[in-house]
Amino acid sequence: MSSKLIRCPKCEAVNIDTGDEIECRRCHKKIYKNKQYSLNLTTAYLTTAIIAFIPANIYPMLIVTQFGVSQESNIIEGIIHIYENGSYGIALIILFASVFVPIIKFILLIYLIISTKLNSHKDHHSKHRIFYITEIIGPWSMIDVFVVAILASLVHIDNIEIIAGSASTAFAIMVFFTLLSALSFDTRTMD
Ligand SMILES: [Zn+2]
Repeated sequence: MSSKLIRCPKCEAVNIDTGDEIECRRCHKKIYKNKQYSLNLTTAYLTTAIIAFIPANIYPMLIVTQFGVSQESNIIEGIIHIYENGSYGIALIILFASVFVPIIKFILLIYLIISTKLNSHKDHHSKHRIFYITEIIGPWSMIDVFVVAILASLVHIDNIEIIAGSASTAFAIMVFFTLLSALSFDTRTMD
């Protein structure tokens, strides 16, 4: 009997395995029995995210205009600039949210993909734990966007104008595809 039932990876609903292409009766997500498909999707989304992470760090994140003079800075330059101005807390939050969190998430997802591809059945409990960590830290990446928004509204008064540079678009794309990558990761493949 158990072979005739299949679990939806998205909403956990139990569906009847009709043999051909199955659509979840509750959330209408297509359930692929081919585990390779889900893994390839996760890999493709993650690759896109890692590619977007490069321009997100090279191109200007902040464009600061003071007395008509514009100064562009990328994420790292911005962090150094904020740190030198004495805002250690904000500098640390931005460093954590825009550099550490994405890199940690990339490493964890790469580890999950590789260990699933190699089909290591041994420690699927720790793999579930790692996947849970990626889900918890995911939203923290978005802090960066909020910090830019807060800085822009705070500093506006002192004849200084702060606007988000082209790196913010790349950064948003990176966050979006990292989330897609984690979402498309079929936890059944870990078992
Ligand atoms: Zn479902």
